[in-house]
Amino acid sequence: MSSPEFFNHGDLVAVMSTQPLGRALDYKAPEGGCRIGAFVEVPLGPRKVLGVVWGPGKGDYDLAKIRHVIRVLDAAPMRDEMRSFLERAAAYTLTPMPAMLRLATRAPGLGDPPSMRKVYRRGMAEPNKMTDARRRVLETLDEYGDLSFTLKELAEMAGVTASVVKGLVAQEALREEESPRDVPFLRMDPELPSKALTEDQAAAAAAMDEGVRSGKYGTTLLRGVTGSGKTEVYLEAVAAALRTGRQALVLLPEIALTEQFLERVQERFGAKPAEWHSGATMTERRRIWRMVGHGQCQVVIGARSALFLPYQNLGLIVVDEEHDSSYKQEEGVLYNARDMAVLRAAICGAQVVLASATPSLETWANAEAGKYRRLDLTSRFGPAVMPEMGAIDMRAEGLKSDRWVSPTLQAEVNKRLERGEQAMLFINRRGYAPITLCRACGHQIGCDDCDARMVEHRFLKRLVCHQCGESKPMPEACPNCEAVGKLAPVGPGVERLGEEAAAIWPDARIATLSSDMYGSARALKAEIAGIAEGAADIVIGTQLVAKGHNFPNLTLVGVIDADLGLQGSDLRAAERTFQLMRQVAGRAGRAEAPGTALLQTYQPEHPVIRAILAGDEEGFWRAEAAERKQAGVPPYGRMAGIILSGPDVAAVFEAGNLLARQDGPLRRIGAQVFGPAPAPIARVRGRHRVRLLVKAEKTAPLQDALAQWVAQVRLKGELRLAVDIDPQSFY
Ligand code: ADP
Ligand code: ZN
Repeated sequence: MSSPEFFNHGDLVAVMSTQPLGRALDYKAPEGGCRIGAFVEVPLGPRKVLGVVWGPGKGDYDLAKIRHVIRVLDAAPMRDEMRSFLERAAAYTLTPMPAMLRLATRAPGLGDPPSMRKVYRRGMAEPNKMTDARRRVLETLDEYGDLSFTLKELAEMAGVTASVVKGLVAQEALREEESPRDVPFLRMDPELPSKALTEDQAAAAAAMDEGVRSGKYGTTLLRGVTGSGKTEVYLEAVAAALRTGRQALVLLPEIALTEQFLERVQERFGAKPAEWHSGATMTERRRIWRMVGHGQCQVVIGARSALFLPYQNLGLIVVDEEHDSSYKQEEGVLYNARDMAVLRAAICGAQVVLASATPSLETWANAEAGKYRRLDLTSRFGPAVMPEMGAIDMRAEGLKSDRWVSPTLQAEVNKRLERGEQAMLFINRRGYAPITLCRACGHQIGCDDCDARMVEHRFLKRLVCHQCGESKPMPEACPNCEAVGKLAPVGPGVERLGEEAAAIWPDARIATLSSDMYGSARALKAEIAGIAEGAADIVIGTQLVAKGHNFPNLTLVGVIDADLGLQGSDLRAAERTFQLMRQVAGRAGRAEAPGTALLQTYQPEHPVIRAILAGDEEGFWRAEAAERKQAGVPPYGRMAGIILSGPDVAAVFEAGNLLARQDGPLRRIGAQVFGPAPAPIARVRGRHRVRLLVKAEKTAPLQDALAQWVAQVRLKGELRLAVDIDPQSFY
């Protein structure tokens, strides 16, 4: 029987595919039928493509021409809640459904039958001759009882060659078996002992536990300075989810930086969680995707795209460092994982925990308005206290040119070195120098494809464009006047600061942490773990180090250029600087030794710098909120960016002007449009970029109006249009 849930052979079904078609297409259900949500393979022209059965067919197409679904794939059907999540996320971000669906199907080999691998177990016979190597193999297997291993794993664990294992198989001392490749994740045990929580930690954990057990949607802002035990508390929310048989997702901004974190989770629950990020192997991604769908993976730690995994029963989403700008995806589908986490949770009746020492103004305002619950952890755990903050007035330091460490900061670092403590110098600029200048003609080397300067990366021996990623070898001669040997670096980057530090402190162990310098995320992780254990006296880093690491012996943070984030016209410049400075300062003095944070600044009187120094967080937010309310900008108003791009600058502007003139749909909702103007980075990868900005009142139906508005222009040739709802950066 057909039902709204199931379609019999030959019934019309609408299939949404990942191909850019704009809508679901009708097909006939295959032999054996298919259910709603089923992952299927369908013919599209001469090709076979992946799709999902979205509902009954529309029947608005010539029945004789409608083709059959080729086959139903061996994967758990997409749940109703996932389909509505994708639809609502698509509507909010004005993203075509196929692009949204692609985010939810990012696992290789989805359609393949479960693949098998050869594993080895103990056999019936004893080997005819026992050698040391053979004994190690058998002992390894005995030690692990039920578990089975691949040839490579077993040989590695026993410290023998593969031929030893094969030899044992020949003698039937070992058995070779086929076993599915996608094995379930080990069960996690919420009842293992947790740390004894302090009073306010326990109160927060209890509130979260209650939320999770209610089985209803709710969002909580968990605010507390770095080291106050936020992680400890939200792990208890994870425990609550596990106890109620629901899955938990923990989103982290910089997945590269989770080794310590994974260990903590493992320690708390006795098993490793799934780790979902761009560095995960294809096999691992496939395994996680499948096991999450079957409920055989209880906890996922992941980057923002983990939000699109097919959870069977998601009960909790934690967004750690919720203010972090990397939650906003700036390419392809433009979405903010923090906001989409709230949407997803609202649909599936889950709890959201937004954890931060320095919440975004959006989240702060939602808590003020009572939409989110707010829980505060007021002090650091144990004897550690907040670092002392101070400014170094650079106007009075008389620093030589091409030097960035002031005498005052240098003296403070010396004290730490004498006491055997760690110091950190922080600069938020990758590479060696931001500008390469020709001293003969004054030319600055720029990117051939963008309007950005090329940044010298001495470590890579190349010039790199931070906008498009293009790089080229450092030239000998100026590309403009051809003078040789006249190119000079201007300004500091993290590599150059490392060089300066090495000259000042030749005997210190200096570790420079920049994403360029490590071949892999794993190498970087290892380096950070080593530093935490004391492998360096001075740590030099970019914002990579500002994100949640624990350096117990670090007692001084020197911020080389506290003014860097205050420049520019970004709506969030003040907020970002405030957050970053607080985070960096939070690195100091996590254990028993008290910490100090010193900010080198040319504007010690600037309100943001003063708020940081005073530690007056609520004061800062209130002042910033008042200004934004006055200006009618987020979170008190709505904004959307439109980026038009194309190879021909005149055509791009023409389209922009046309849009600006035909603003009827926007005016009807009282929205204003600004521009077109060249985007702040006016050329990327050879494409000219023009930006329009739309401002509307908080309650205006912005998406509908935007959709009508942009539908008026026909995008000819290579012209592209991207809508960015709630833009974070103004590129
Ligand atoms: P946050 O996430 O707020 O930065 P963490 O949860 O990482 O803070 O806690 C900081 C450090 O203090 C960690 O090493 C953590 O294990 C420890 N800690 C926090 N609360 C407790 C507690 N109640 N008992 C023991 N150790 C704790
Ligand atoms: Zn470029």
